Amino acid sequence: MSNVDELELDKFSQIAHKWWDKDSEFKPLHEINPLRLGFIDDFAAISGKTVLDVGCGGGILAESMAAKGATVTGIDLAKKSLKVAQLHSLESGVSVSYRCVPVEELAAEAPASFDVVTCMEMLEHVPDPLSVVRACAELVKPGGQVFFSTLNRNAKAYLLAVVGAEYVLNMLPRGTHEYKRFLKPSELARMARGAGLELLQVKGMGYNPLTRIYSLNDDTDVNYLMAMRRPG
Ligand code: SAH
Repeated sequence: MSNVDELELDKFSQIAHKWWDKDSEFKPLHEINPLRLGFIDDFAAISGKTVLDVGCGGGILAESMAAKGATVTGIDLAKKSLKVAQLHSLESGVSVSYRCVPVEELAAEAPASFDVVTCMEMLEHVPDPLSVVRACAELVKPGGQVFFSTLNRNAKAYLLAVVGAEYVLNMLPRGTHEYKRFLKPSELARMARGAGLELLQVKGMGYNPLTRIYSLNDDTDVNYLMAMRRPG
């Protein structure tokens, strides 16, 4: 059985042409990108390393990691997004290798083959996040790092990430996020530990709607980043 929700992929395919439009629905991903890139690079020093970006979409993070000198592979199951990612990489001259393959299949094909694995804002869109976490843990080399980001599940996250972002501020299309798929940091940490990963750090990503500025902080109530390591 494949670990994919076609309705979720459709949501992204419908707006795939806008991936690189910084004033589109993807604006928040563009705005948080320097923060998460810095977080990843602080732990993993990615220049010269092989990085797999799982659920890469149009390649916002993938390209930025390649621009820092990493050899990046991006995978997703939305073909339109991968096409946009490929075209953008041709235009920008920042080379990323994109593939349409389920992460579980890649893990069976090439276990322990990446120095670093990233999987951002993706777990909340799949039916079985544990299966993705396990596959990421299998794909990273012993001693390598795995990074996840997703949305916490509590009343504040529901109010800010769903009601606020989709209905009040109209930052995201309505229906972008399904609350029941949000993951508490403790749940994600347990999944990752079960997959053999060690937790390095959790950071919150905050958005101030007045200044419209994002920042990394210790408030993991809504959107958070997790750094993990596969023991060497
Ligand atoms: N990681 C990117 C995009 C996040 S949007 C970023 O943070 O900039 C979520 C992405 O997950 C979309 O590109 C969507 O197509 C992808 N996705 C959803 N379900 C998936 C699945 N089962 N396998 C792979 N990718 C999936």
